[in-house]
Amino acid sequence: MAQVIDGKNVAEEVVRKVKALTGDLAAQGKGKPGLAVVIVGEDPASQVYVASKSRTAKECGFHSVQHTLDAATTQAELLALISRLNADPEIHGILVQLPLPGQIDAGTVIQAIAPEKDVDGFHFINVGKLGTGELETAFVPCTPAGSMLLIERVRGKDLSGLNAVVIGRSNIVGKPMANLLLSANCTVTVAHSRTRDLPALARTADILVAAVGRPEMVRGDWVKPGATVIDVGINRIPAPEKGEGKTRLVGDVAYAEAEKVAGAITPVPGGVGPMTIAMLMANTVVSAYLAAGLDRPSF
Ligand code: NAD
Repeated sequence: MAQVIDGKNVAEEVVRKVKALTGDLAAQGKGKPGLAVVIVGEDPASQVYVASKSRTAKECGFHSVQHTLDAATTQAELLALISRLNADPEIHGILVQLPLPGQIDAGTVIQAIAPEKDVDGFHFINVGKLGTGELETAFVPCTPAGSMLLIERVRGKDLSGLNAVVIGRSNIVGKPMANLLLSANCTVTVAHSRTRDLPALARTADILVAAVGRPEMVRGDWVKPGATVIDVGINRIPAPEKGEGKTRLVGDVAYAEAEKVAGAITPVPGGVGPMTIAMLMANTVVSAYLAAGLDRPSF
C-alpha cells in the first residue's frame, strides 16, 4: 500500500506560512499583498475557481480585488484594465482567469501583465527564467510548483539519479513540471498523445506525473513498484452508484490499482488540486516582498 500524499494538509501549511509572512509585512509597515483576479464572462467553472481564489486571498489577509467583466468586453477594454493594475502599487499579483471569450486573444492579454505581477507564471519572461533554471527570480505556474512541493515531501529537494516521466506537454502543467524536475536533477522524459508505448515508458519512472485530462488512463501495471505518482488530472465522470445524474471526480490515474504498486501517490480530490490555490497565494506574497525591497521568501 502506497503512502498517500495529503495535498490538503500541505496546502494548509503553505497558507499558514503565507498568513505569517503577510503579518510580518504589515508589522514592518509595508502594507498588504494585493491580488487582482479578473474574470470575463460567466463560465460557471471559472466563477467557482475565481470565488475560491478571492476567498483564500482574503483569508490570507491580502488586499483582494475581483474584476468581473461582461462577456462582451473588448480586448482593448481588458488591456486597459491590465494596464491600470500594472501601475497600481497596491496590486502585486494579477490573475486573468482562462478561458477568455472568443473576441479576446489570451496570449496578448497574458503578455500584457507586468512580469513582476505575473503570479500565474505564464509571461514569456517567467517561462524563460524557468526554462533557463533561474528559479530564484521566476514566478512558476501554480499547479506544477505545488506538485513539486508534494514530490519534495516524499523524495527531498535533490532528485539526482531519479527518472521522471511527465505525461502531458501543456504550457500550464506538463512543460513547467518537466523544467522543475530537470532543475532538481531528475532525468526527465515528457510523454504526450504521440508517444509510442506509453505504458512501457511510464514503468521506467521513479516519479510519474500524469497531466492529461483522461479519466484513469494510467493503470496499475504502468507504475514502477515504489514510484512516486503525482496525479494532476481532474475529471468528472458519471457515478450512477451515487444516484441518477450524479458524478464524481477522478484523476488521470486508476488510483485503486496504482496505490497497490506505488511507493507514494496523490489522491483525487485532495492531492494536487488544493496546492494550486495555495501556490497562487505564495507567489503573491513573494511578489509583495520583492516590491517592498525585502528578501524573497521561499516555500
Ligand atoms: P491540456 O489538455 O492542455 O494538455 C493535455 C496533454 O495531455 C497534452 O499535452 C496531450 O498531448 C496529452 N495527451 C492527451 N491525450 C493523451 C494520451 N492518450 N496519451 C498521452 N498523452 C496525452 O491539459 P492541462 O491543462 O495540462 O491539464 C491536464 C489535466 O490536469 C486536466 O485533467 C486538468 O483538469 C488538470 N489540471 C488540474 C489542475 C489542478 O489544479 N490540479 C490545474 C490544471 C490542470
